[in-house]
Amino acid sequence: MKKNITLTALCLSFLFILTSCAPQNTAQTATVFAMDTVMELTVYGDGEVLRDAEQLIYSLDAKLSATDEHSEIYKLNRDKSATVSADTAEIITRALDICKSTDGALDISIYPVVSAWGFTKDEHRIPSDDELSELLDSVDYSKISVDGRVVTILPDMQIDLGSVAKGYTGDRVTAMLRERGVESALLNLGGNVQTVGTKPDGSNWRVAVSDPAGSGYAGIIETSDRAVITSGSYERYFEEDGVRYHHIIDPKTGKPAASDILSVTVIGESGMMCDALSTALFVMGVDRGAEFLRENREFEAIFITDDGRIYLTSGLEDSFTPSGMYENAEIEVLNYD
Ligand code: ADP
Ligand code: MG
Repeated sequence: MKKNITLTALCLSFLFILTSCAPQNTAQTATVFAMDTVMELTVYGDGEVLRDAEQLIYSLDAKLSATDEHSEIYKLNRDKSATVSADTAEIITRALDICKSTDGALDISIYPVVSAWGFTKDEHRIPSDDELSELLDSVDYSKISVDGRVVTILPDMQIDLGSVAKGYTGDRVTAMLRERGVESALLNLGGNVQTVGTKPDGSNWRVAVSDPAGSGYAGIIETSDRAVITSGSYERYFEEDGVRYHHIIDPKTGKPAASDILSVTVIGESGMMCDALSTALFVMGVDRGAEFLRENREFEAIFITDDGRIYLTSGLEDSFTPSGMYENAEIEVLNYD
């Protein structure tokens, strides 16, 4: 009898160890369609935390979408002044700070120009110079005001958080997962990758950087607890008469940024900052971009340029491995010491 009880106790404690370990060690995965892209979530935790992550993404998308008639951004663009949620007020306030620090390379009021090129509805066209210069008259992030939760824009203005929403969402999901005890997760929000901790075995996550000139990838970054976010002219574009028109607009010209960059990947702790900066650095080009990074050392970056070169900030020298077409590419290290 006593033996039986001991055995049962042993079994129970073994079962307890198994079940208490299981949530942390089992990969739970979900595919989410939100923010106009496909997101893949891999969370080492229980199913409930994964479902909550999905819900958080849907709820942020519902507030931040520029095209959904029920969203706060849609209403702001329609009414020019709106009382928004704390989330929306926060993301706009932070985005405006980055618009300023990038000297307008990022400008969330560029939306009417993006629409004129047809990128919002996939009905591509080339606007005339006159049309662009008229639209540019009301592109100016500094005219957006946030007073508590009341956001006000100019009469002809429309804003779009497409350049920062996925990064912000990654930050929010990451914070929620950490709060709930998750130590290991990989969030791929449509090519914007955000990692929580390391892989369960303690090794770094390996994040692929797409090849902007082909279908494979240009290299692998080994990282943990970081966002890895890429903007590139290969992501959304159309071609007419042999010319490629892509979706990252230079707010100074109203045209697709005439950048020497094919893609720029920014790595750092804040997904929103990396998302914003990947767009802004693309507009700046390599020289201005490298200068910006010199002043903002908390970010690492990889530029792939139209002459097939790779520029790396020095912090990535040991963690980036080029692959495929780029194995023999010229790699220039941006060393700021
Ligand atoms: P993606 O969302 O394709 O990953 P980005 O993060 O670079 O790429 O964001 C590009 C989106 O941001 C565009 O689709 C457009 O809506 C908007 N956008 C384009 N140019 C700018 C700009 N200079 N500043 C702010 N937003 C921009
Ligand atoms: Mg971006």
